[in-house]
Amino acid sequence: MRGEGRERPLDPGEFPEDDEPTLRPRTLDEFIGQDELKENLRIFVEAARRRNEPLDHVLLAGPPGLGKTSLCYILAREMGVGIRITSGPTLERAGDIAAIITNLEEGDFLFIDEIHRLNRAVEEVLYPAMEEFAVDIVLGQGPSARTIRMDVPRFTLVGATTRTGLITSPLRDRFGFSSRLDYYSPEDLEKIVLRNARILGVPITGEGARQLARRSRGTPRVANRLLKRVRDYAEVVGDGRIDEKTARDALAMQGVDDLGLDRIDREYLRLIIEKFDGGPVGLGTLAVALGEARDTVEDVYEPYLLQSGLIQRTSRGRIATRRAYEHLGIPLPHRS
Ligand code: ADP
Repeated sequence: MRGEGRERPLDPGEFPEDDEPTLRPRTLDEFIGQDELKENLRIFVEAARRRNEPLDHVLLAGPPGLGKTSLCYILAREMGVGIRITSGPTLERAGDIAAIITNLEEGDFLFIDEIHRLNRAVEEVLYPAMEEFAVDIVLGQGPSARTIRMDVPRFTLVGATTRTGLITSPLRDRFGFSSRLDYYSPEDLEKIVLRNARILGVPITGEGARQLARRSRGTPRVANRLLKRVRDYAEVVGDGRIDEKTARDALAMQGVDDLGLDRIDREYLRLIIEKFDGGPVGLGTLAVALGEARDTVEDVYEPYLLQSGLIQRTSRGRIATRRAYEHLGIPLPHRS
C-alpha cells in the first residue's frame, strides 16, 4: 500500500502528531463554530456511549480546511477509541482496505479522507463491512477461486469528502450520520485566530485578529496559515505584536487582498475576464491555463469564489460576475 497515513491504531485518548499538533482543537468545546453540527454530534456520541455501542458511521462533507479531520479526532477521543487514517486515492485494491479493516480493534475509527475517490472494488468491500461487519475475501484465482466471509470488529467509518455529489448512493446510504460543514463566519474565525495566537504565544490586538479573520476565506486552515506568516512578519519587521497595520502590511506582502483572494484566485478571475471575455469557459480549459489539476480548481479555488459572488457556474462554463470586474478594477465591457 502506498502513502498510508499512520501505521497503527492509536491508543485511546492518544493524540497523533501532525503538522499542526497544537492548533488542532481536541474537544468539541475547543472546536469553534458549526454550533448545530456540534450539538447533533454531542447527542450522537452520548447516545452511543450510553448504549455502550460503537458510533454509527459518519460522513462529513465540505471544502478543505474546515475541520473534518479535526472532528474525526475529536469524536474518537470522546468515544475513547483508536483511529486509523487513510484516503480514497491511496486505496488501490480490495485487499488494501480489507487488510486495514481486519486489523482494527472493536470500536476503532477508520477515517477515509477524500472518500469520493474510492474505486469500485474498494467500495464494494466497504458495503458488507459497514453494514454487517464482515468482509468477503477471495481465495485463489480463476475457476477454483472461492470467497470466504470473515467477521471484522464493529468499527466506525468516518468519511470526509469535498464533494458529496460524487459519492455513490449505496455508499452514502450506509452512513448513519451525515453532515456538511459550511464556511465560517468572520466572528468565528476571529475567535479561532485569537485562540491560536494565544497557543502560539503571539501578542495580537482585536483589530489585528479581525483583519486576519476577514481575509481567511471562511476557512480555519487558511486563518492558521495567515497567522503564522503574519507572525513571522511581525517578529522580523515589527515589534512582534500583530496589530491592524502589521496584519494589513504582512498580508499585502503575501499577495492576500481585502477579500482574502490570493494570486492564483486573481489569476483565475483575470483569465476568465481577459482571455475568455468574461466567460463562459469550461473548467478543463481553465485548469490547463492555470496549470492546476481540475479537481484542485473545482474543490479548492472555486467554492470560495462562488460563495463570494465573483463567479457563476453555468451549464456552458464559468462566468465572471460584475463583482469580479469591480474587485479587480477592470471596466465592465459594454455588451451589445
Ligand atoms: P479538513 O479535514 O476539513 O481539511 P482540518 O480538520 O484538517 O480540516 O482543519 C485544518 C485546521 O484548521 C486544523 O488543524 C485546526 O487547526 C483548524 N480548525 C479547523 N476547524 C476548526 C474549528 N472549528 N475550531 C478551531 N480550529 C479549527
